Amino acid sequence: MADEKSSLVSGFYKLSIDDRRAFVKHFAALSGEESALFTSALDLPTADRMIENVIGTFELPLGLAVNFRINNKDYLIPMATEESSVVAAASNGAKMARVHGGFSTSSTPPLMTGQIQLLQLRDAAGAAQEIISRKQDILRLANEQDKILTDLGGGAKDLEVRILDSPLGTMLVVHLLVDVRDAMGANAVNTMCEAVAPVLAELADGKARLRILTNLADRRIVTATATFDTKTIGGDAVVDAFLESYMLAAIDPYRAATHNKGIMNGIDAVIIATGNDFRAIEAGAHAYAARTGCYTSLTSYEQDEEGNLVGTIELPMAVGIVGGAANMHPKARLCRRILGISSAAELGAVAGSVGLAQNFAALLALSTVGIQKGHMSLHAKNIAVMAGAQGAEIDLLADKLVAEGKIKLDRAKILLEEIRRR
Ligand code: NAD
Repeated sequence: MADEKSSLVSGFYKLSIDDRRAFVKHFAALSGEESALFTSALDLPTADRMIENVIGTFELPLGLAVNFRINNKDYLIPMATEESSVVAAASNGAKMARVHGGFSTSSTPPLMTGQIQLLQLRDAAGAAQEIISRKQDILRLANEQDKILTDLGGGAKDLEVRILDSPLGTMLVVHLLVDVRDAMGANAVNTMCEAVAPVLAELADGKARLRILTNLADRRIVTATATFDTKTIGGDAVVDAFLESYMLAAIDPYRAATHNKGIMNGIDAVIIATGNDFRAIEAGAHAYAARTGCYTSLTSYEQDEEGNLVGTIELPMAVGIVGGAANMHPKARLCRRILGISSAAELGAVAGSVGLAQNFAALLALSTVGIQKGHMSLHAKNIAVMAGAQGAEIDLLADKLVAEGKIKLDRAKILLEEIRRR
């Protein structure tokens, strides 16, 4: 079925769930204890420690994207999502990227930005200068808050001061740039912001108000790129159609919103599966997409000298492999083991590559057969369940709906009655 440690596998969807689990167990060299996590649920005492007012837990399907090769390493990628087609599309995009070696990525250092807002200033420019002149003292105070981080080579590295005019008067916003290493970093940065705020207020001769990180993590960027072979994707006419489709996302926020939503279909699924904060990733992605003042695509496409499509994605990637929920949730631990990642940057590279694969596959479908063909075939099972199908009826009814090409709830109800009469 597949080479040793190769993620390239065809017909994975045809295997039973047990066989898929056995495949992953072998690929990721999972121990018996680790593979027991496939069936373990988030226990209530743990859930009760994670959020407030717990009354239960909530499950999502966990699928596996295959075929991914990123920076010359093969990955099987766990994805938690409720939406059909997402895992299949990612796997399909990854398969096409493999023809030219898969995805290559680069990342900036893991710098997160904390904001401290200073108000009621008598002399904003003078206050800014005063703060900058005391930069080293402020950074030292910030770093005293997190010895673990500084021992790992991270910590507060720099600060910047911005002067903003507002209807409430001029305010200063001090940006604290913190290297958070393998953490998502929100708690670490917020703690530092709260610690330095009184000192900043005193230096500025003003009042400190907000003390929290920004999710526009534009100092923590991942870039992934891949070349998609013209012949593999259907020839020159398909490439032209693809570029026409892409162009609308580049120039029109109405299209870009949907284009980027498709990207986040893939990225969020990886972020959730690894126990990370998907709202932080979403906020960062969309704010970054609007950074020029006009909301645009997070991906870009062009042709190389041979006429192949070269796709690139660039977005903030505030993910962690320590802290937050990452270590509390048993399935998140399992998913990180399956990925075999050793740093937050590597997880970011995987998530970025999934976003590009997802976007490429969706745009290819949209540019050619349309999105509904693949989507509705998978969606047919949901419609079958909505119509009341149970057990073996679900696949039977879904197959009939797909064969007829009419995947509609009213038709599904009629067909279900026919199946039952027989
Ligand atoms: P955290 O405080 O749980 O863990 C980070 C800490 O782990 C570091 O400060 C460090 O002391 C320690 N650590 C140990 N090994 C490390 C390593 N190799 N690299 C880096 N740090 C290491 O979590 P966090 O990452 O600071 O914050 C993430 C959580 O904050 C998430 O759950 C997120 O949902 C939440 N949060 C988010 C926002 C937001 O996005 N706006 C706001 C508040 C809280």
